[in-house]
Amino acid sequence: MKNPSSQTNVAIIGGGLAGLSLACLLSRDNIPVTLVEKEDYPRHKVCGEFISRESMDFLIRTGIFEKENNYPLIDRFELVFPNGKVHTCDLEPGGIGISRFTLDHKLYQLALNSGVNIINKDKANTITRQENGEFQIELKSGKQLISKVAVIAAGRRSTSLYKDSKPKADRLSWFGVKYHIDLPMDIDLIRIMMFEGGYAGVSAVEDGRYCFCYLAKSKYLKKFKGNIDRFEEGLLRKNPEIDKLLNQRTIIDGPFTTSGFHFGYKQIEKDDLLFCGDASGFIPPLTGNGMSLAFRNAVNLHPLLVKYFNGEINWEKLKADYRKYGDGYLEKRISSGEFLQNLALDPGIFIQTILSGSMTLFPFMLKQLSKKATGKPF
Ligand SMILES: Cc1cc2nc3c(=O)[nH]c(=O)nc-3n(C[C@H](O)[C@H](O)[C@H](O)COP(=O)(O)OP(=O)(O)OC[C@H]3O[C@@H](n4cnc5c(N)ncnc54)[C@H](O)[C@@H]3O)c2cc1C
Repeated sequence: MKNPSSQTNVAIIGGGLAGLSLACLLSRDNIPVTLVEKEDYPRHKVCGEFISRESMDFLIRTGIFEKENNYPLIDRFELVFPNGKVHTCDLEPGGIGISRFTLDHKLYQLALNSGVNIINKDKANTITRQENGEFQIELKSGKQLISKVAVIAAGRRSTSLYKDSKPKADRLSWFGVKYHIDLPMDIDLIRIMMFEGGYAGVSAVEDGRYCFCYLAKSKYLKKFKGNIDRFEEGLLRKNPEIDKLLNQRTIIDGPFTTSGFHFGYKQIEKDDLLFCGDASGFIPPLTGNGMSLAFRNAVNLHPLLVKYFNGEINWEKLKADYRKYGDGYLEKRISSGEFLQNLALDPGIFIQTILSGSMTLFPFMLKQLSKKATGKPF
């Protein structure tokens, strides 16, 4: 017997920050939404867990945060060069520390309370356009979902659902590792620590924990036969400040790992599919802006979908307006983030060490570029 299919106006594939926040916003405007998430809540995700402050208004407005001082406010920044030299500066506009375990779960509960139909622990396998223009989504369980609009919010590795318009096979892929740790460290401080082939970040989250997260090019891990412990011993510890941290920390949770990702803008719309969050492009985490862009994408797509379902704009106008945001604003933000990361990494360890000796120009550039990679509140 064929599995029954369910109908909805908007199907959202992926229940991370982009998918859940878009689902919440639409459902609060009485637009029927079904969201498909392959995993369950709550769970850990690999992330530096530092949200840039541009998201604060959105977080409070939507009810994700009740008061801004519920979570550590982070407004001091230390850049630690591979040789252990530390450079301190104010963080403009700063950020908030919250674990993905808590944040995604809070958004999930808000989405449920807003009336979103959530199918979790089921994976979207394929999306096809039917002759009548509707989308047919086949789930791993055998269920079918039919929708008027389909949004892909399945994160940075959602290529199995669609053909990536810019295949990145020729570019080096990256991997990331996260721990929750106990550490003697100020809670208003974020430290970014460089090492050969990558960088690590450490900052406070809720409940007195610290998030220690690093990412590096996968080829460096291969040198250690994919073994995280040996990678940390052989490469991370070469930075004396990371070595100190690894000696002082007590692991509470982790390691959690992710791999095979690339940075850069991809697309906001393709073949009538709409993309949201990392699925539309992945900004390097150096400036802590990926989560804010996921929220911002949802905030930009939401009113267009409301107008579309109210009959105020047609489909072509919706796509054109969303493309304006994606190909204009979003692409620029992601490029700034890539430029900043390349500046910090690509000249290689040698130039970084030289730069760390000249303590005037680099921090100034860093501050200017960080501002460029960060957006206005929304
Ligand atoms: C190492 C690292 C450190 C980072 N640090 C920071 C930081 O400090 N600050 C910051 O702002 N950003 C950071 N980011 C980026 C941030 O994590 C992302 O930008 C953010 O999670 C994007 O949210 P999203 O909803 O687009 O994707 P995700 O949070 O990845 O959510 C996508 C969801 O889709 C689900 N999914 C995937 N495929 C399917 C399918 N076929 N069917 C159903 N469900 C599916 C997944 O299970 C997942 O829950 C970091 C990223 C990495 C890798």
